[in-house]
Amino acid sequence: MITGKTRLYGIIGHPIGHVRVPMTFNERFARDGIDAVSLPFDARPEHFTAAIRGLQALDNLGGFVVTAPHKQAMAALCDEVVGEARLVGAVNTVRREASGRLVGELFDGSGFVRGLQAQHHEVAGKRVFLNGAGGAGNAVAFALARAGVASIVIHNRTASRAEDLARRVAAAYPRCAVHTGPKDPRGFDIAANATSVGLAEGELSFDVSELRPGTLVTEVIMKPEKTALILAAEARGLPAQQGRYMLDCQMDLIFDFMGIGA
Ligand code: NAP
Repeated sequence: MITGKTRLYGIIGHPIGHVRVPMTFNERFARDGIDAVSLPFDARPEHFTAAIRGLQALDNLGGFVVTAPHKQAMAALCDEVVGEARLVGAVNTVRREASGRLVGELFDGSGFVRGLQAQHHEVAGKRVFLNGAGGAGNAVAFALARAGVASIVIHNRTASRAEDLARRVAAAYPRCAVHTGPKDPRGFDIAANATSVGLAEGELSFDVSELRPGTLVTEVIMKPEKTALILAAEARGLPAQQGRYMLDCQMDLIFDFMGIGA
């Protein structure tokens, strides 16, 4: 039951109807007996700053998750940006401190790597092909480099974004060999989609037909649960990781960061 003492948490984005965070949070609040509620906040880009300043003014707000298209704008509105969010320049989790200070972090990449580890896929020393250098591609590339992969070859439809990402990851993690390359995932240990190709049924981010046995195919898209890429990988008997793990496996990190249940 929502009472006068219930703490508020949220997720802000536009559109917002597809998000799973409120269900995930509220199930956990109920399970753990935490007097809190998670709500969806739909804010158009032109109203985003006003919405954030309004949230900042609410003393019973503990924090919120930030989703598309606001992750980069949020970084500029935080009082402090920490950890991976500083490297990537995007924020997906905001803690509102008692003073009203907003502290931002990015857990997308950590969630992705935790998802792999939870499925017992070794990450250290692996050679990675990454398609995508947008928000998800940035998060995945920095987190994989931090987790100790040997190399990453980044491809992106707009080549300049891949080049920019490769340069920034290489500068932050000199021990990881980071380059750009063609859309050819053959010869890698992990082949990762971080584009939005696959949101529409049947769209394939890259060809898996010539991947050698054992190549791990990964996805960031959560809907459909099994994209054409995941289905094609499974049909070939390759190990495959769906996009939902990236979100599911950052929940503990988000709860800890917001101090929920502490
Ligand atoms: P974004 O910043 O807009 O980037 C989109 C990416 O997809 C860019 O690399 C873009 O290439 C590429 N792309 C789009 N249409 C393409 C096409 N027709 N052909 C080739 N490449 C194309 O978006 P984002 O934030 O990275 O989100 C991407 C996906 O990741 C979304 O489905 C999002 O829901 C998902 N995501 C999931 C999680 C999670 O926790 N599971 C977290 C974050 C994001 P260009 O640079 O050439 O435009």
